[in-house]
Amino acid sequence: MLRVEYRDGLYLPDIDLWLDAASARERCVISHGHSDHIAEHHAIISTPETARIFRHRCGDALVETLRYGERRDYGQFALTLFPAGHCLGSAQILIEADGERLVYTGDIKLRPNAAAEDAVIVPCDTLVMESTFGDPLYKFPPDVATIARLYAAVDRALSDDRVPVVLAYALGKSQEALELLLRNDYRVTLHGSVWNVSEIYRELGVQFSGKYERYDREHLRHRVLIAPPGCRKQPMITNIERRYVIMLTGWAMHRSAPYMYRGVDLVLPLSDHADFDELVHLARASQAQRIITMHGSAKFAAHLRELGLNAEHLAHYTGSESVRTARKRSSKKGAQDAEPSLFN
Ligand SMILES: [Zn+2]
Repeated sequence: MLRVEYRDGLYLPDIDLWLDAASARERCVISHGHSDHIAEHHAIISTPETARIFRHRCGDALVETLRYGERRDYGQFALTLFPAGHCLGSAQILIEADGERLVYTGDIKLRPNAAAEDAVIVPCDTLVMESTFGDPLYKFPPDVATIARLYAAVDRALSDDRVPVVLAYALGKSQEALELLLRNDYRVTLHGSVWNVSEIYRELGVQFSGKYERYDREHLRHRVLIAPPGCRKQPMITNIERRYVIMLTGWAMHRSAPYMYRGVDLVLPLSDHADFDELVHLARASQAQRIITMHGSAKFAAHLRELGLNAEHLAHYTGSESVRTARKRSSKKGAQDAEPSLFN
């Protein structure tokens, strides 16, 4: 069976393959474009959508693209990418080597996502899965109920002549929020970083259910503003006197969520990750004989073992390579990297 290591990304030493490395590598397969999954690699393999987002965020690299379901042979192994439902172009990565099928989920959402492809479950021998919300505390209410709460909060704010500000990470969650708001006929204005990624979505063929505008502080009345969570303490938001700030995050299910985000009026559990029940379903439906969990708590692997599955949590590699150096390099990428895990 393929050895699996977690360094500053996933590493398969038997075939010398990096996946989602957070520091620069010669060649790396990338599941999606969130900043904690990318670095300035020399060469990348990804879906065409992720390659486009990578160029926007990291600049040029040698790029090799695979469409979903397209299998490519690399001699020692073969790669196939499948939709992960996390953001546009997000992929699960199937690696076939020595008769073994190993799937790395990357970040995954099984529920429908208004601005991403529907995820599939890929049968495999080894499943390396994210477990960000691998705790029973994180059983999300149906998205339809959360979306209804979002619309009700926006309606209330607008009728009170306030500016609803929706905080959502610039790639993926923002476009999902944008599409949901446009479907309910709101006028939506976007922070520059959200605007840029949304324009890339359009360039890649996504048809949003209406037009949207780029942020202009003179024109905020009767509009909903979408901005990244990191902006909430910045003048762009704090200068809006009559604002109503809504955060979209799976961490909303945490009992202290109302106190975790200063300056936020409402925290709603709209997430681009699988919740606890989806993760359990994914583990079972994959039919994997070996399950390796990463991100989140080791408790999730223990829970899977109680269900009779062969599961282990992947601890950070502490072998000979200087992990400290790799971490130091990845920390150069700036403050936005500190945020994704908080705002999933
Ligand atoms: Zn992600």
